[in-house]
Amino acid sequence: MESKKFLLQEKDIPEAWYNVMAEMPNKPKPMLSPATGEPLKAEDLFPLFTEEASRQEFNTTDKWIEIPDEVREMYRIWRPTPLVRARGLEKALDTPAHIYFKNESVSPVGSHKLNSAIAQAYYAKKQGVTNITTETGAGQWGAALSMAAKHFGLELAVYMVKVSYHQKPYRRSIMQTYGAEVIASPSMSTKAGKKIITEHPNYQGSLGTAISEAVELAMSTPNCKYTLGSVLNHVALHQTVIGLEAEKQMEMAGEYPDIVIGCFGGGSNFSGISFPFIRHNFSGERSTRFIAAEPASCPKLTRGVLRYDFGDEAGYTPLIPMYTLGHNFSPANIHAGGLRYHGAGAVVSQLRNDGMIEAVDIPQLETFAAATLFARSEGIIPAPESSHAIATAIREANKAKEEGREKVILFNLSGHGLIDMAAYDQYIAGDLMNYEVSDEEVTANTVGLKEV
Ligand SMILES: *Cc1c(COP(=O)(O)O)cnc(C)c1O
Repeated sequence: MESKKFLLQEKDIPEAWYNVMAEMPNKPKPMLSPATGEPLKAEDLFPLFTEEASRQEFNTTDKWIEIPDEVREMYRIWRPTPLVRARGLEKALDTPAHIYFKNESVSPVGSHKLNSAIAQAYYAKKQGVTNITTETGAGQWGAALSMAAKHFGLELAVYMVKVSYHQKPYRRSIMQTYGAEVIASPSMSTKAGKKIITEHPNYQGSLGTAISEAVELAMSTPNCKYTLGSVLNHVALHQTVIGLEAEKQMEMAGEYPDIVIGCFGGGSNFSGISFPFIRHNFSGERSTRFIAAEPASCPKLTRGVLRYDFGDEAGYTPLIPMYTLGHNFSPANIHAGGLRYHGAGAVVSQLRNDGMIEAVDIPQLETFAAATLFARSEGIIPAPESSHAIATAIREANKAKEEGREKVILFNLSGHGLIDMAAYDQYIAGDLMNYEVSDEEVTANTVGLKEV
């Protein structure tokens, strides 16, 4: 009987993260200070982030960065995660493609986010920080950080995008169960929140706004740091445990991926599954395709422009060289809340600009059709975010069938959807729709941003 799952042992949990910046042919440009327009250094981020996260953010020289023992110890709760051959899906599609997925949904909080949450909470604890703040969209990052904060004895305040606060009440319950304080964003508790509520009383929030509020609280609270669950280089770095394990597991399966796919919010899970494989493209050994799967309603890599832009709505953060739809872009209320972010991280943006990765944008209804087929053929109900990766894998498997070619496809199952059943209810009832973004909207939102 051929294997379905490829499992590693606890001793195989990686001992170091892979820092793609050390090997990229063109390094990403540094962030700029909005005040002076000058490139930033690690020390410039110390007021906002922990020192270790800040140093990792700017580390373009060390290829491997050691994972602290305390972090590996926590990883042992659920890592290594399984690599699964999706034989049920292959059969349903009647495709000659071999489809594999890395199952990050088995973490205690149901997504990959814990890989970085633990590292960031650990660095805060180690530095003697007592309080941390963050934002969360669908609640996945907030849930992960709540668990990590509790473990390391930190107080956590989470600004949760208002639409998700109401759509996904159980993610709020999860955060509160772990002991975090959760505030719907925009809120009246910050200047940034008050301003946007005054201007748009019915605004349902965005990640950009929630980041502004979390940053403002961190800057005005003593011994408090801000943490971010995606976009930044150090977050992508922590997520490389996904691809490093997958690389060993593909070897166990006796195959190597022709295509690697991850859904794309700010880039952390896509980076996590991709970067350990892309290093073999840099060296010329392999020519794997890497596809970032975005929502059609928030298509920064497919339809956005490469500019220096703020990471948040109010303009508190440094200017990041990113593919962006503009920091004031307000995405439609799709259920893949974790993908409703206006920009892509600097590393992924550089790789995209250099033609090392590809991107596709997928309409909401196609993602739910893919999710339903996956649930029925593989038994796992995927997160609406992850369903973008599944839909892309299905497109590629169908192409392989048309071409009559065997292709090896690997995608990351970034999370499960068991707390997103309200979204599935709406899909089943026929109440979901597709959303498009017009070129005019993108142009209007990005006009005046500085070219990279
Ligand atoms: C947050 C999230 C995403 C999107 O974020 P990335 O940083 O782009 O990975 C995708 N899937 C799940 C399950 C998430 O929680």
